[in-house]
Amino acid sequence: MTEEMIFSKIIHREIPADIVYQDDLVTAFRDIACQAPTHILIVPNKLIPTLDEVAEEDEIILGRMMLVATKIAKREGIAEKGYRLIVNCKDNAGQEVYHLHMHLLGGKPLGSLLGSC
Ligand code: AMP
Repeated sequence: MTEEMIFSKIIHREIPADIVYQDDLVTAFRDIACQAPTHILIVPNKLIPTLDEVAEEDEIILGRMMLVATKIAKREGIAEKGYRLIVNCKDNAGQEVYHLHMHLLGGKPLGSLLGSC
């Protein structure tokens, strides 16, 4: 199974995952290797490999991903203190799974985002 197929299989409930939200456009599930008390991945149901391959017609999917993130953050009780959304795009960003996904991280102070240049 290639890496990008893993998320498609989760979306279609062919392999187990802790799915916390699903609608016609996106699915959200807990990251298997969490890096914060709340670490959820928000994924388009349609396979888009990277952010770089998003098309004009995918605008509604991107909007839904953001909106769903805010809803889940409230439900997880992390909205008040704050949270971080991350989209890694390709190698230099450390993207491992080539099925577009947004990380929702929160539940503790997350520190600064970037190191030095
Ligand atoms: P990225 O480095 O942005 O591509 O992040 C990929 C994320 O997917 C990592 O944080 C992994 O821990 C997570 N991941 C990989 N396989 C699974 C899985 N089967 N269920 C949940 N999360 C996964």
